[in-house]
Amino acid sequence: MAAPLPPSADVVVIGAGAVGAAAAWYLTEQQGLSVAVLEARAVAAGSTSRSAAAFRQQFSSHAHVRMSRFSREVYEQFPRLFGGPAVFLQHGYLFLYERDDDMAAARKRVEYQVSEGVTDARALSPADVDALPGLGGAFHTAGIAGATWCPTDGFLRPTEIAAGFVEGAKRRGASVHVGAKATGFTTERGAVTGVVVDGKHTVRTKAVVLAAGWWSNAVSSLAGCPIPVVAVKRYLYLTPQFDDRKVAHFPLVVWNLGAYARPEGNGLMMGWDEKPARPAGSDRFPPPKQDVAELEAHQDDAPPGYGKGIDEYGIEVLAELSNAMPWLGDVGAVQYVTGGYYEVTPDDKAILSADPRLAGLFHASGFSGHGIMHAPAAGRAVADLALGRTPTFPLDGFALAPLLENRERADRERMVI
Ligand SMILES: Cc1cc2nc3c(=O)[nH]c(=O)nc-3n(C[C@H](O)[C@H](O)[C@H](O)COP(=O)(O)OP(=O)(O)OC[C@H]3O[C@@H](n4cnc5c(N)ncnc54)[C@H](O)[C@@H]3O)c2cc1C
Repeated sequence: MAAPLPPSADVVVIGAGAVGAAAAWYLTEQQGLSVAVLEARAVAAGSTSRSAAAFRQQFSSHAHVRMSRFSREVYEQFPRLFGGPAVFLQHGYLFLYERDDDMAAARKRVEYQVSEGVTDARALSPADVDALPGLGGAFHTAGIAGATWCPTDGFLRPTEIAAGFVEGAKRRGASVHVGAKATGFTTERGAVTGVVVDGKHTVRTKAVVLAAGWWSNAVSSLAGCPIPVVAVKRYLYLTPQFDDRKVAHFPLVVWNLGAYARPEGNGLMMGWDEKPARPAGSDRFPPPKQDVAELEAHQDDAPPGYGKGIDEYGIEVLAELSNAMPWLGDVGAVQYVTGGYYEVTPDDKAILSADPRLAGLFHASGFSGHGIMHAPAAGRAVADLALGRTPTFPLDGFALAPLLENRERADRERMVI
């Protein structure tokens, strides 16, 4: 039976995807703090369970590298902290570049990453790629300028991560309410005073962590505070399992900072952000209006053109990746397609910020394709904000205020996939 809603809580977290769950875990570090988590559907019911769940430290912005380093340590420690199996498969991340100028820029980024503490990131020549242990001959190296490689990158198990954080937060005293939808806010003199649940109960609180993924703009708008977070459909394509080639040990492979593939069993899961286009106006505030009920109904659909048939996008993704792995051309077929929404901001960086319009409202959304890998760091950061602690990470580049004024934020990220 669901736990009864408390009349009040020191902090209310809205959303129990990877980010809200991690926020609950870090909030409950503070002894004696009452934390209530509201989840409208089920733990990990949103993008968390629809993700490719790749993890990398190879970023171009200071804050993202820092967040990855923090999150890497947490994910490496996850079984010790939360019990259960490993959630982090460190097969590495291999970026392949065709052009000399792209490779020159990639080499500079690696120098930067190493200087930021990602000491095992390195640039590779085509011959170095051929010599990667267990991978020799898997990639097209004759026509490439080079690659970058970080063996401690990899991929994650997102539903286990959200469940681990939620159970951990419960053990530390959080109350978690599944099937409890935030439907409104109460406010007084410019400050939050409570969250209305299912239109009938109010949980009194002075602090709300809003971690509702692609729903965040709709939920925040209930408080009169829209935010520029837009749902954008992304597809993942799965090849059949291979009989004649072993790929289960492969790293995540990215071709020219675009199409990517990672193993799923002994087949590949593939993605590419070429299509569909983002909705017009998603690059500014206020964001375009989106019909939440309509989006929700079509979260898993792949409409004609985006599916796995001949002349469809899935085959284009396969063809693009066969530039990196020529033998993939012989596969010729995509077996399966899944979908989900990226929750994007105008500059593809999250909002980890107090809301300047309403005291007590704290945002953790808009991860633009990085929400699983950065969930521990994001949870920690928003807990710092909500509890008034000195931030563990520099959060200037994640502030909401510049986005509301359509101003550029600091520390722009150049490696968006
Ligand atoms: C195809 C695809 C590939 C991806 N690949 C990667 C990747 O390789 N690496 C990576 O790090 N990220 C990736 N992502 C992005 C990642 O999945 C998201 O950034 C991440 O899941 C966001 O987590 P979240 O907890 O913020 O949101 P969600 O997981 O969407 O959770 C939000 C939760 O809020 C709840 N909620 C909504 N409204 C309310 C309400 N009113 N009241 C109560 N609860 C509410 C929802 O039910 C949901 O459970 C990918 C996403 C997709 C779709």
